[in-house]
Amino acid sequence: MSSELPAENEAWMHKGFCADSPYADLWFPTEGVESAAYCESLCGGCPVRVACLRYAIDHPELEGIWGGLSARQRRLIRRDRNASCGTYGGYLKHRKADEEACDECKAANAHRSRLKRQKRSANAA
Ligand code: SF4
Ligand SMILES: [Zn+2]
Repeated sequence: MSSELPAENEAWMHKGFCADSPYADLWFPTEGVESAAYCESLCGGCPVRVACLRYAIDHPELEGIWGGLSARQRRLIRRDRNASCGTYGGYLKHRKADEEACDECKAANAHRSRLKRQKRSANAA
């Protein structure tokens, strides 16, 4: 991510593996090739990975690989984080927090399970 440091140039940004890499373009792969293994190979073990990922999740405009995750993977995390009650995402959020889901989220989960069952039996027919 070093080739396009954002305006808020934070101290940790200079300590990342990518900061001095002559191959900074690797962090901006062509769309579709940024597999989890590829991201891990670039950022795995980077000393500022946590700060980097946090920063990138807070800045949806950023492209390329940050904190070991592609823009697409970060979008999914953002979506989960913003999931509201009454959606399946909200239900998952309760589960991740190890708490009982609220009634709206339970209903959303039950609805999803019903749809899945219907789809399965339609496929089997
Ligand atoms: S985690 Fe990856 S993108 Fe972030 S600073 Fe380290 S090497 Fe660069
Ligand atoms: Zn809920």
